[in-house]
Amino acid sequence: MDATECTLPGLHHVTAITADAQKNINFYCDVLALRLVKLTVNFDDPASYHLYYGDESGRPGTVLTFFAWPGAARGRIGPPQVSATAFSVPPDAMDYWAQRLAAQGVESQLQGNRFGEPVLGFLDPDGMQLELIGTNASANSAVRPWLAGSVPKSMAIGGIHSVTLSERKTDATSALLTDVMKYQSAGSEDNRLRYQAGTHDHGPGTIVDIVHTPDIRHGTLGAGVVHHVAFRTPDDAQQAAWRDKIAPYFPHVSPVMDRCYFHSIYYREPGGVLFEIATEHPGFTADQAVAELGKKLMLPPWLEKQRKEIERLVPPIKLPQ
Ligand code: ZN
Repeated sequence: MDATECTLPGLHHVTAITADAQKNINFYCDVLALRLVKLTVNFDDPASYHLYYGDESGRPGTVLTFFAWPGAARGRIGPPQVSATAFSVPPDAMDYWAQRLAAQGVESQLQGNRFGEPVLGFLDPDGMQLELIGTNASANSAVRPWLAGSVPKSMAIGGIHSVTLSERKTDATSALLTDVMKYQSAGSEDNRLRYQAGTHDHGPGTIVDIVHTPDIRHGTLGAGVVHHVAFRTPDDAQQAAWRDKIAPYFPHVSPVMDRCYFHSIYYREPGGVLFEIATEHPGFTADQAVAELGKKLMLPPWLEKQRKEIERLVPPIKLPQ
C-alpha cells in the first residue's frame, strides 16, 4: 500500500501505571462509569494485571489501560510525558461531574476554557492527571457509553478527547505529528500547541496537544504516570505502511507485536514519549462477547497453559457488578 493512503484518525488508547488494581477498578468503573472491557495480564510480564476500560465495547479512542504494578512508587509527572489525559463529556455536564466527583471525595478544579471548551481537572487514586472537557464533539461520535454504570447517558463520558504531551522542546515532536503522522496544526494558546488528526472517522480522540514546559523537572515513570499513548489505524496493511513510513526516521521502531485485541508497533518520539500505532481490529470481542467483556481473567492462547500459575501470582480482585 502506498503510505499516502494510510490513515491515523485519532488515538487508540492511553496506557498508564497503577499501584493498586482494585482501587483503580473502583475509581474508573464506579466513579467515572467506564466499563472494564478486559481483565488480562501484561503479556510482557504475566504476573501483573493489565486492565482495559472503555465504552460498551472498548471502541478505539475510548480506551484507557493500566499496567498494575502492586505497591509501585508514585512516578513524577513532567516532561517528556503525556502529562494529562482528557475525556469528552457534553458541554452542560461540567456541574454534574464536579458535584459527582466531590460526592465521591475527589477534588476537582474548573480550569477555565481551552480552545473554547471548559476543562475540569482532577486526579485518579494514583495521582494521574485527568480532565473532563465539555465538547459538542462528544455527541456525534460512534461512542456508546456504558449505561450499566451510574451516570446517565446525557452526562456520560464519550471517549478520549485529547492527550497533552509535556515537552522540553516542541519542534521535532510537532514536525513528527504534522510531516510524518499527518496531523494538522490547529492553533495555539499560551504555551499549548494543538494538533488535529488529518483524517476523520468521526471517532473520539482526534486531538494531541503539546505544552512547552522547559523548566519543569524531568518526569519519572511510576504509579500515576502514563506509560505510552497509542494512535489507531484501521488494519494490518495500513499499520505495515505506517511502519515503512516511520522506520527511516525512527530505526528503532519495534516489529509488529500481537496484543490479541490489536496489533502494535512502538517508537519513541523525538521528545521522549513512547508512541504506539495499534490496529482497530480485532478488538475486545476477539475472545469474549460484548455482554461478557471484563467478567473474567482472559489470557492469550500462548499463556493459557500457565493459567493456574498466573492466577496464583496476581492479587485477588473484586470485579464491578
Ligand atoms: Zn499500548
